Amino acid sequence: MATKTGTLRVIEPATEQVMAELHEATVEEADQAVERAKAAYPAWKAVSPKDRGDLMRRISAAIEKHAEDLARLEARNVGKPISDARGEVGMVADVFNYYAGAPERIFGKTIPVAGGVDMTFREPLGVVALIVPWNFPLPIASWKVAPALAAGNTVVLKPAGLTPLTAVELGRIALEAGLPEGVLNILVGAGRVVGERLVQHPDVAKVAFTGSTEVGKRIGALAAATIKRVTLELGGKSANIVFADADLEKAAASAPLAVFGNAGQDCCARSRILVERSALDRFMQALEKSIKALRVGDPLDDKTEMGPLISADQRAKVESYLNDGARVAIRGSAPSGPGYWFPPTVLSPVSNTDRAAREEIFGPIAAVIPFENEADAIRIANDTIYGLSGSIWTNNAGRAMRVARGLETGTISINSNTSVRVTTPFGGFKQSGVGRELGPDALDHYTELKNVFLATT
Ligand code: NAD
Repeated sequence: MATKTGTLRVIEPATEQVMAELHEATVEEADQAVERAKAAYPAWKAVSPKDRGDLMRRISAAIEKHAEDLARLEARNVGKPISDARGEVGMVADVFNYYAGAPERIFGKTIPVAGGVDMTFREPLGVVALIVPWNFPLPIASWKVAPALAAGNTVVLKPAGLTPLTAVELGRIALEAGLPEGVLNILVGAGRVVGERLVQHPDVAKVAFTGSTEVGKRIGALAAATIKRVTLELGGKSANIVFADADLEKAAASAPLAVFGNAGQDCCARSRILVERSALDRFMQALEKSIKALRVGDPLDDKTEMGPLISADQRAKVESYLNDGARVAIRGSAPSGPGYWFPPTVLSPVSNTDRAAREEIFGPIAAVIPFENEADAIRIANDTIYGLSGSIWTNNAGRAMRVARGLETGTISINSNTSVRVTTPFGGFKQSGVGRELGPDALDHYTELKNVFLATT
């Protein structure tokens, strides 16, 4: 919540209390952050690959040292279960450790040509602006900061106004680990003000953005004026496809947290559950059992599986999907307040043309959509502007692979609802984004390809 005086009030969603007050940066301060990053770039680029890798390992170790404090801060600020926050902070340490190996492994090629030797180099871009959302603040920041630094860039990181606290801590931790001043700058401020300034700044070479498709389109358009490199990780409306020959108990046990994890505020949420009609009744019975068993409550309780939504605005938006006459088939429980609570909710049956099936709700509402056969499942799953994630549940390996190849989506799990691993690429088809994060491929997005020809005759 921004105030007139340029102070950002950070609210704890489970209590509606003010957690912290931060200075909200101005456009001039955004420019100063870019200046600092620009000044630090030549020296950072010149650090030897081994020393750059060692520094990243030290950042990883420092994150582990502060892990519990970071997890509690993230759990309170986002309202996410502490057990999830602990897992996410562990992943952040792993991400820095993984990319610590990169500086010594950013290879070029030699290409056979006549009259000489031709070789390629992957070089850093310069100052990169990293703009991240409020749902997984620290992990998503790390997916960008770690490869950007490993490749030799300097960074301005802009966290979301609702959840800036762990990004500020990451900046402190990096300094504590020995990262030189100016290499990683944290800019707390409004997207429309300092975010847009970064996107338009002539000294910023690249913008890596995670957030809504709507803002992603605006960033893409603004960045075009200076031909900035842009990667976009945007919204999703992923399908969780359950065939009648699957282990239905297992699929139904896993489905709730595949939508309601992080209170549904997850770009990978499998919010369309496509079920083969012949298995619909059996699946719904098992699903109801697992949803009723979900523990919704205090984010700081070790046993909690789902917390509140991020804000009152978000809750009002989520609530609006119940006003369309949708049939509520299953409703879990949630505390009454204070806090922005919303119970896990399943709408069924839903048509893929309904609003609840077309829009990214970003809250704990799942839409169950029956299908008739394999071709029908693929058609419905692909009938969306998005293409981020998805799952296929079947015991027929051939079908699993046919459907996986037929889906227009970036990350698919078979008999699992996982999407993200440190070592594998993550990103979207269609309006879910441009580019990939994590794994070795992310480094391509933080480097520029240079070709050098040396004449030998
Ligand atoms: P958002 O688009 O409102 O904001 C994201 C970030 O962009 C914030 O830091 C915000 O301050 C900044 N911003 C807003 N307007 C801006 C502008 N005009 N110029 C520059 N920066 C601007 O998104 P959100 O509400 O924070 O996050 C939710 C969205 O993020 C959902 O749509 C979700 O699907 C998406 N998301 C995608 C992924 C992915 O990897 N694909 C991951 C997490 C979240």
